Amino acid sequence: MDLDRHDFQVSDLVERLKAEDTRLVALQLPEGLKIQALELMDRIETESAAKVILAADPCFGACDLVHHKMKMMGVELVAHMGHSQMNIDSGMPTHFIPVTYDGDPELAPVIPIIEKHREMALQRLSKEDIVSTHSDLSDEEAKERFLDAVGRVAPLSDVKLGLVGSIQHLHLLETFKERLQSAGFDVKIPTGGERLSFPGQVLGCNYSGDDDDIGHYLFLGSGDFHPIGLVLHTGKPLALLDPYTTEAREISLGFVEGILRQRFGLIMMCQDAQRYGILIGEKPGQMRRSLALRMKRMLESHGKKGYLLALEHVDPELINFYPVDAFVNTACPRIAIDDSVKYDKPLLTPFELEVALGEKKWEHGYQFDEIP
Ligand code: SF4
Repeated sequence: MDLDRHDFQVSDLVERLKAEDTRLVALQLPEGLKIQALELMDRIETESAAKVILAADPCFGACDLVHHKMKMMGVELVAHMGHSQMNIDSGMPTHFIPVTYDGDPELAPVIPIIEKHREMALQRLSKEDIVSTHSDLSDEEAKERFLDAVGRVAPLSDVKLGLVGSIQHLHLLETFKERLQSAGFDVKIPTGGERLSFPGQVLGCNYSGDDDDIGHYLFLGSGDFHPIGLVLHTGKPLALLDPYTTEAREISLGFVEGILRQRFGLIMMCQDAQRYGILIGEKPGQMRRSLALRMKRMLESHGKKGYLLALEHVDPELINFYPVDAFVNTACPRIAIDDSVKYDKPLLTPFELEVALGEKKWEHGYQFDEIP
C-alpha cells in the first residue's frame, strides 16, 4: 500500500487545533494506517502548539472511540482517522478524517463481470414477473423463483447496479457512476441509515442502503471484508474493483456457499450445547446489551444457561478457557463470521443461536447480523 497517496487532511486538523488553541490532541488510526502514525504526530506537533497522544490500541472502526479514556488523560480533541462519524455519542469533541486514496482504476476489467451479474439479476427479475402473472404456481415453485444467493425469499423490482465503496474511495463514486452509465448501466448509489455518513458507504456491520431495485453490486475497495458482508446481507451478485491494485474480480456463489456451509456446521455442533458464553462488546458502537439479555432469556426459556461476558477486545485467549459449550457474540458482528476458526468452541451470531434453538428456520434463508 502506497501511504504517500493517502490524504490525511492534516492541514485542516492543524487549522482547527490553532483556532481552538488545543494543547493536547489524541490521534486514533485504523491498523492499516498506524505505520504512518509517528510521521503524522511529528507534523502536527511541528505545525501547531498541540502535543499528540497516539491511541495505540487496535482500532477497527468508528464504533471504537477512545474518548472516555482520553478525557481522563486531559485530551481536548480526538482526531479519528480512516472512519466516519456514527450514530453514537462520542462524549467529547472529535475531528473525523476519512483519509482518501488517490487511486483511480480502469473500469474495463470489471465490465465483463458486471455484465454477467446484470444478466443473473435480469433472470431473477423475469422469474418474479412470471410469478406475479402466473398465480397458478405452487408455493414451492414461487419460493424457488424468489430465492437469493443466501436462500431467502427476497423481492426484486429492478436490476440497477448498486455502486458502493469503503470510505477511502467514496470520492470516486460520482465519477464512476457517470462512467458506468456511459457504458450502459443503470446505476444507483444507495443511501443507508444513521450509522452511515455518506451515500454509497458500507461498513462491515451495516448495508442498510440496499433496496429492491438494486439487482447487483460493484464495490470500490480492497479485500473481502466488506464484500462478504454485503453478499451475506443482500444475497446479490457482487463485483469488486480495487483502487490499490486495479484488480477486478467477483465474490463467487461457491465462496458464499462455503461460508454458509461453515455457519450451518457450527449451528449443528451446538445442538446439544447447554452452557453458552454471551459476549457483549464494550466499545461504544458495538455494545448491544439488550440483544445480549434477549439471548440470555431465550437460552433460559430452552432450559439452557447463558453467561454474560463483557469485553473490550474479543479474542480467543480471553474466552477459550471458560467451561461453556459455545459462545454467542453480540459485539462486532464480523467476529463470529470472519474469525470463528480461531476459537476452540463454536462462536455463533444471534440469528444462528435462534436457529440452533429452533426459534428460526435455516431453510428460510440466512440473516446477516447487522448493527443499525
Ligand atoms: S462493529 Fe465491526 S464491522 Fe462495524 S464498524 Fe465496528 S469494527 Fe467495523
